[in-house]
Amino acid sequence: MADKREPNGLAPVTREELARDLRALGLQRGDLVYVHSSLRRVGWMPQGPWTLGEALRDVLGAEGTLAVPTHTLSFPGRGVPPYDPGQTSTILGLFPETVRQRPEALRSGHGSHSSAAIGPLAAYLTAGHDPCHALGYDSPLHRLYRAGGKVLLLGVTQTANTSLHLAESISGVLYTRLPYDASWGPEVACLEDGRVRRYRQVEFPGCSGGFDRIEPELRRRGWMREGTVGHASARLIEDRGLIDTAVACLRQDPGYFLCHREDCPCCPARWKALREAGYPAL
Ligand SMILES: [Zn+2]
Repeated sequence: MADKREPNGLAPVTREELARDLRALGLQRGDLVYVHSSLRRVGWMPQGPWTLGEALRDVLGAEGTLAVPTHTLSFPGRGVPPYDPGQTSTILGLFPETVRQRPEALRSGHGSHSSAAIGPLAAYLTAGHDPCHALGYDSPLHRLYRAGGKVLLLGVTQTANTSLHLAESISGVLYTRLPYDASWGPEVACLEDGRVRRYRQVEFPGCSGGFDRIEPELRRRGWMREGTVGHASARLIEDRGLIDTAVACLRQDPGYFLCHREDCPCCPARWKALREAGYPAL
């Protein structure tokens, strides 16, 4: 019936169908999973975007943990207000915004790259996020790695997979000290007890335009399962395999993830820094 279909003619997706697809992809009870998503590609959910959250919780069970990125990029140079963990909406779309607004969700305190989580490992993931380091030791993505979590990509590619920025940090590539966009400035601003505090960043997650390059390596090494969830392409990746693979690629080639777009606000300065350090003969 036409009134039960979304504008592009695809059937709406239900909680039960989504749970079935997630299980078929390899998601299991008790898993810790970090989700990057495009709800539009997953499909129309008549009961609203939390339908996907319910499906994930159905599969994970009470012993599993759901986490999402809730980035805000609260750099004063972008002309945005300071980061308030309880109030500031994420710029990453409807699903992570829905998760972070759940009463049971916990959210980390970093002013540009926060994460939110629901479940028994939510406090472990989100507590103590260094305000000067988006992806360093003890950041939520580093704890995801240490805890043996999984990354789920729904309707998005590796270019949405922020864990690859953690791999850049772990690998020690020298360019992470350069801002994504110099015009933003080196500090993020956070609202703490009614006061604005600024934190100068140690490292900066940069351009992700080259991240799809890792896909053949993940397939070859067996770290990624591929399928469909709702109407979206889906990838479920073992985070330890993902990070270790990416770190190995970066140690072999520090320019592995940088893009070649001349108008990129990030990569030209990073290529320059690599060349000044002797790239490609590093
Ligand atoms: Zn770039």
